[in-house]
Amino acid sequence: MKDKLTGLVCKECGAQSPIAPRHYCEECFGPLEVEYNYERIREVMTREHIEYGPLSLWRYRDLLPVETDQPDNIVSLQEGFTPLIRASRLGRELGLKNLFVKNDAVNPTYSFKDRVVAVAVNRALEFGFKHIACPSTGNLACAVAAYGSVAGMKTLVFMPADLEQGKIVGAGIYQPFLVRVNGSYDDVNRLCSEIAETMNWAFVNINIRPYYSEGSKTLGFEIAEQLGWRAPDHIVAPMASGSLLTKIYKGLREFMQIGLIPEARVRMSGAQGQGCAPIVTAVQENSDIIRPVKPDTIAKSLAIGNPADGYYAWKIIKQTGGCAEAVSNGEIIEGIRLLARTEGIFTETAGGVTIAALARLASSGAIAPDELTVACVTGNGLKTQEAVTGSIEMCDPIEPDIEAFDEAYIEDWMIRSATGLCPTKNGTEVLARWT
Ligand SMILES: *Cc1c(COP(=O)(O)O)cnc(C)c1O
Ligand SMILES: [Zn+2]
Repeated sequence: MKDKLTGLVCKECGAQSPIAPRHYCEECFGPLEVEYNYERIREVMTREHIEYGPLSLWRYRDLLPVETDQPDNIVSLQEGFTPLIRASRLGRELGLKNLFVKNDAVNPTYSFKDRVVAVAVNRALEFGFKHIACPSTGNLACAVAAYGSVAGMKTLVFMPADLEQGKIVGAGIYQPFLVRVNGSYDDVNRLCSEIAETMNWAFVNINIRPYYSEGSKTLGFEIAEQLGWRAPDHIVAPMASGSLLTKIYKGLREFMQIGLIPEARVRMSGAQGQGCAPIVTAVQENSDIIRPVKPDTIAKSLAIGNPADGYYAWKIIKQTGGCAEAVSNGEIIEGIRLLARTEGIFTETAGGVTIAALARLASSGAIAPDELTVACVTGNGLKTQEAVTGSIEMCDPIEPDIEAFDEAYIEDWMIRSATGLCPTKNGTEVLARWT
């Protein structure tokens, strides 16, 4: 669609500027956001138009900041349009009757970052960039490396050196120029911001950030469409920079604004790990100052100590009557295990954060039992196996014959679990579930 984009606008002072690869306001250094011509979009973007579109986030391209209208010209790995699962078994355990899980663990590189990067890469190509780059907490590196490959761009990913193996291999396999840095994500980000000043590279989350971040709106669009064209009552999302939470909400507001779904109040709740919870702390202290922290959490994909969109996430949580929860490493692991055991979805530590926060909100009554609630599971557990390896119940291997099986798993296991000697922590519980 022509004329759908009107330009960039400063989120702080409202100053407008043309569409360009830049991310901060020249007047006040505030962050820039893409502005759309909703009147125009409203005429074209109907439910039918969307339903005939591709089975990917590009079905919503009229509300995405890329110029091309031809799906064939878009670089895509069919990201998005991921399952929205009715989570009745998990809901039963938590006392929630109307619970859904949005499963972004099944995206092309196994996290929701494929949404933002797909948009960023296409925009970067339209700007004429030859290089695509990012500072990353892990998942972003995987996505940028994969999309850099399919876009035929030179790709550079920068990451903290101490990331999980699944993230290093998951990015390295696409053969980008991979730079590991001794430092936190915030250090890596600072380094890349300096490089971005001198090199003509598209840093997806720095100079392309206003376009990149728009990709997260599609999570909100899909939730609305998959619920039968309506907004849920409550969404629980993990927070790193805070961008995802703000954009899910923006997506739902846009659908209301152009008349695709009825006006409704949606509460937005945010989740972080206790070792890196600057946004949650601000919400709980009712302070609009986000104090940077030094991250120490197993939820490495959320380990941003100085979150760029922290203030905006704080504001939306407050405005919508949502909550914020910070959960411990132990709760994160229990959250991962609970989701796997009840719904068959293996999520990474960030998903464990979401499920653990959901459990807290349900048990405190912050989420009412019949509220239509969506929990956003944003990444895949195979990338953070380190976090749960120690929690897997395993007995010693046996010889491949029936006597050995009977001995080990019928008599012996029963005796051992009864006496607490079974190497599985809760052998009795496991056995009870099997018999
Ligand atoms: C990056 C990431 C997030 C959070 O993203 P922000 O937009 O920076 O808040 C959540 N979950 C996973 C798995 C991520 O990789
Ligand atoms: Zn400004």
